[in-house]
Amino acid sequence: MIVQKLALFDLDDTLVDRLAAFRRWVAEFTGRRGLSKQDAAWMIELDADGSLPTEEFFAAVHERFGVPEPVDMLWDAYRVRMPELVVCPRPVLRGLRRLRKAGWRVGIVTNGTAAHQRGKIYRSGLVDVVDGWAISGEERSGKPGPQLFQIAARRCEANVRDGGWMIGDDPVDDIVGGVFAGLRTIWIDRGIRPWQGLPDLPGLPAPPGLRPDHVVTDTVGAIKVLLGQ
Ligand SMILES: [Mg+2]
Repeated sequence: MIVQKLALFDLDDTLVDRLAAFRRWVAEFTGRRGLSKQDAAWMIELDADGSLPTEEFFAAVHERFGVPEPVDMLWDAYRVRMPELVVCPRPVLRGLRRLRKAGWRVGIVTNGTAAHQRGKIYRSGLVDVVDGWAISGEERSGKPGPQLFQIAARRCEANVRDGGWMIGDDPVDDIVGGVFAGLRTIWIDRGIRPWQGLPDLPGLPAPPGLRPDHVVTDTVGAIKVLLGQ
């Protein structure tokens, strides 16, 4: 069955390399404060690929290094600086342009605070190559719930009822969320996390056999799959 040419992408570690940007931010932070390489490694481990809430991250950083600024101030500075360090790889930007030329609507569905995620979308150049986006921090819903996908589709002048695709690196937010929103899905394993089924989370309302339609290493690979549809 041919489904509507709607491609919704996750932002962090799908369209932009959040981990690389975070490593750059940590290097700046530790460099400026005379902290060691071990301290930098500790921060990267603590962040756990962005899975630790930012407030908890900065509370732990504040305590461990005894930095004078309050947690809120550290967080504010991070919110300003991180989007400046985020890059969308050129092949991804090119791929998104190709998709749109081929008649696809392209959107972003991301969990995070509005100013922070919006800053990344603008600074990375994604603003010029997508039709719309939905950020959990400025809507009353987040992934994996279906509403954020519906909002993003609407901003792309599409309706998830007519199908489409969700592409992302999070098994729950992107794959379970995408399936429950009625979309086909592509999982990005980033070459470091092969698909191993869904995590065993209490209350996760997903059948154990649920899996993505395709598994690829990176977003360029996902775009190739879409162009082949
Ligand atoms: Mg992600």
